[in-house]
Amino acid sequence: MTSTRASLHTLGCRLNQAETAILGEGLRQKGYQLVEFGQPTDVLILNTCSVTEDAERTSRYLIRKTLKHSPHAFVAVTGCYAQTGVEGLKHQTGIDLIVGNQFKLDLPTYLPPAHALQKRSSPDVHHTRTISRGEFDLPHFGEPDTTRALLKIQDGCSAMCSFCIIPFARGHERSRTLDDVLREAKSLVARGYREIVLTGVNIGQYLHKGRGFCALLRQLDQVADLERIRISSIEPTTVTNELLDLMASSTRLCPYLHIPLQSGDDQILSAMNRRHTVLAYVRLIQQAAARIPNLGIGTDLMVGFPGETETAFRNTFAVAMELPFSYLHVFPYSPRPGTAAMRIQGTVPSATVKKRASLLHDLGHAKRLAFHNKQVGMTVSALFESGMQDGYCHSTTPNFTKVAVAASDDLQNQIKPITITAATERWAFGHVVPNQPMKTSTTLL
Ligand code: SF4
Repeated sequence: MTSTRASLHTLGCRLNQAETAILGEGLRQKGYQLVEFGQPTDVLILNTCSVTEDAERTSRYLIRKTLKHSPHAFVAVTGCYAQTGVEGLKHQTGIDLIVGNQFKLDLPTYLPPAHALQKRSSPDVHHTRTISRGEFDLPHFGEPDTTRALLKIQDGCSAMCSFCIIPFARGHERSRTLDDVLREAKSLVARGYREIVLTGVNIGQYLHKGRGFCALLRQLDQVADLERIRISSIEPTTVTNELLDLMASSTRLCPYLHIPLQSGDDQILSAMNRRHTVLAYVRLIQQAAARIPNLGIGTDLMVGFPGETETAFRNTFAVAMELPFSYLHVFPYSPRPGTAAMRIQGTVPSATVKKRASLLHDLGHAKRLAFHNKQVGMTVSALFESGMQDGYCHSTTPNFTKVAVAASDDLQNQIKPITITAATERWAFGHVVPNQPMKTSTTLL
């Protein structure tokens, strides 16, 4: 008897990716055969994003595309678009099940038994307007598909930045129980993962039974044989001195921070309802860079927020230029219905938004090249991804530099000392240092 095929696809953030892996495990446990997205399938699970209008459009397109090659596929939609756009999705043809974020990880239990999988005239809907605030455990652990495993520690956000739909899509801040986080970290180590990447919406707000983010990091630092811990995006107001000290002293916590700035202009920051000023942000980054050797620092910048004048943009450009960023993520403002920013006057013409984004993209490329160049001659540890391309294995260093290393064998999932020998805008090049023992897996060697 052939098993029922299921295909999963993720749009949006790392947290969505981590949750798709959990859904995949739930389906596997129910006997589904997971097939690659794009292949003929009996079930499609689409884990959607609603951060931009584009992401929503892509979701609708992917459903149509899947139904072209698999017209009988049972289509289940979950994630932020399923949460915020449920009314519209109910009327889109081809969708059989809509699951809002409150019930996302229960999705496999809502699928009909394999013999009863049939397209429906209207979708079955599991959705609540609000999402409960309680702490949580995960139903089971996913099998990450990269050598760096995403570990969900937190969900939701209460910050209410005026442009952001996420507090509506994912609800208030809530944390995963510490024991459950540690259980999964140990399970990942036992399955051979060498780096875990802590993910959530606002991870610096982690709090469980009085134990905050740094307490969680200290506990993870004790997990036997866990070699690397990486923090994904973290809000500037939650980066404490304690966290910088930990990062400076730990041999496992990677020297890497991605701290969204969004704008380098105080008026725009205030209209965005961000909780930091430009000066506070600049001081934080300078302090972090001074305290943590060879730190990699990334940021998010938004262009075209309503009311962003030429002067405001120039302020953003100047701050981005001044600070030691290793890369910039640049996003055009995308109006999201229901957010406070929709009521702000001063739409920026799209040609201006494009020009500003392009200027920041160019700056980002120059920053990345300078960051790579600065490391030429250094010997660092590198964790190798799977596969080889044109005689190179691809690896990631603790400060999130991507290094291509010439090799004759696939070095998948190995951590090796490498010397960085050359730099390009996209990545650095290096070679493995023969016969050098690894002292630690995150610090300079
Ligand atoms: S901190 Fe602001 S931008 Fe980030 S998820 Fe929360 S509301 Fe959105």
